[in-house]
Parts: sequence; C-alpha cells; structure tokens
Amino acid sequence: MRQDFKISYSRVSAYLFCPYKYKLVYFDNFNIPVNADITFGHIIHKTLEQFHSGKEQSYDILLDCYDASWKNDGFSDPQQIFEYYNRGKQMFENYYKSFCQTGTEILYVEKAFDANIGKYRFMGIIDRIDKYPDGTYEVIDYKTHVRIWEQERVDKDLQLSFYAYACKNVFGFNPNKVSVYFLSDNKKIYTKKSQTEIDDAINTAIETAENIMAENFSPDVSKCQICDFRLKCSYSKDKIITNRWQIKDTIRTYRGKK
Ligand code: SF4
Repeated sequence: MRQDFKISYSRVSAYLFCPYKYKLVYFDNFNIPVNADITFGHIIHKTLEQFHSGKEQSYDILLDCYDASWKNDGFSDPQQIFEYYNRGKQMFENYYKSFCQTGTEILYVEKAFDANIGKYRFMGIIDRIDKYPDGTYEVIDYKTHVRIWEQERVDKDLQLSFYAYACKNVFGFNPNKVSVYFLSDNKKIYTKKSQTEIDDAINTAIETAENIMAENFSPDVSKCQICDFRLKCSYSKDKIITNRWQIKDTIRTYRGKK
C-alpha cells in the first residue's frame, strides 16, 4: 500500500548531506537563509519557464520575462544586485543565441512528476525536456552557479538519474541524452543513465525514505563547516570553533583596552 510520505531529490539530498539537517528543515521548520545565489537561481528558472511557456519568443521578450521575475531578496546591497543582474543579462544573451540555433522542440518546461517507488510517493520537477527531429529526447537540468562540474560529477548526479526514471516510468519515453546546462558558461555537459544507475538511485531514495520514517537523524558533523545551520544547530562543530574564535577576539579586545 502506498504511504503518503513524499520523497524527492531535495529531501534525499538534504538527508544525505546530514540526517540532522533534514530534521531541522522538514520537521522543525528551520528556514534555509536566503542568499544572492539562491534568489538568482530562482529568478533564472522562473524567467526561462515564462519565456518558453509563451507563444512568441524573441530576445526582448526573454528580457521582459527576466525583469518580471526579478526580486531583491537575499542580495546584500545595490552593487551586488547590479552585478548579478548584469550577469543574468549576459547569460540570457548567450542563451538566446544558442536557443535560436537548436533544432529541438521544447516539449515541457518545469514538468512535474508524481510516481510510486516502493510504498512511497516520489515527486519532482524537471527543468526542461526537448524532442529532436529524429524522435529522440533530451532531459535538461539548468544550473546557475559559476563553476562548471567535471564530467564525472555529471555522470554520477543523483538528480539526473531520478529524472531519467521519471521519463521512463511516468512520461513513457527513454531519454537518449541527459544534460546539465551551465547557464553562466552557456555550456551543456551530457551524460547517459543506464538501467543499473537508475535502479541504484531509486534504491537510494527508498532507503532514505525508510530512514526518515524510522526517524534516524544522526548528525553528520563532518559537514558542519559548510552547513546553513552551523550557528544554530546544537550538534554543530563549527559553532564551537566560531565561539572559540569569538572568545579569542573578545580576549584580544579586552587586552587592547587595558
Ligand atoms: S550543523 Fe552539522 S550536525 Fe548540524 S545540521 Fe549542519 S551538518 Fe548537521
């Protein structure tokens, strides 16, 4: 019997990062602090969704979608807003040139899926699915960060395996290409997903769901340094280091005054 517990890439990814972080976000409702990169990522995704959902497409329309999607949350100051805005504009200039040259049909943008895996609901949203004139398909995941991944990281990416599963089992086609589109460099890195890789990814999702249902939330303190909650979490190792530095600073300030 299907349980109504929903597992998704975001949940699996949070749990694999640190099970206790999963608990903080999904049980204790801690909010991940919004920053410029998170907001910028949302803006870019929303712009492309609006642009590709429209009937007419031109570079001016793309920029109109960009302006309509823009929001200032998470940016530190006007200078940072200006820099990110221009980065996005440059990104879309290159994107539009490439888009005009592609011979693919864009079948779906922000396509949601809802499947059953084991006894769980398995959900997600795929950025884009294209169809080539020869009838083959490509699944595309947009990334907006500056650093491009190595081929190996794309090959091993769990999210892409989930998308390949959804295409096969929900939408009824086998994607010939699965790609990550690094918009900052206007570069795609392609991979393929074997049935074994897809099965392994789904087993990871089921195993994660089982662990969550069993409330196994052991902290993984090896990640504290790069965790959003390092200053709030009671298990944080980095908080102790930060506090130690704060104590040293306080001592230094105190000595300086004497
Ligand atoms: S601070 Fe460390 S232990 Fe706490 S949630 Fe983050 S990674 Fe896990």
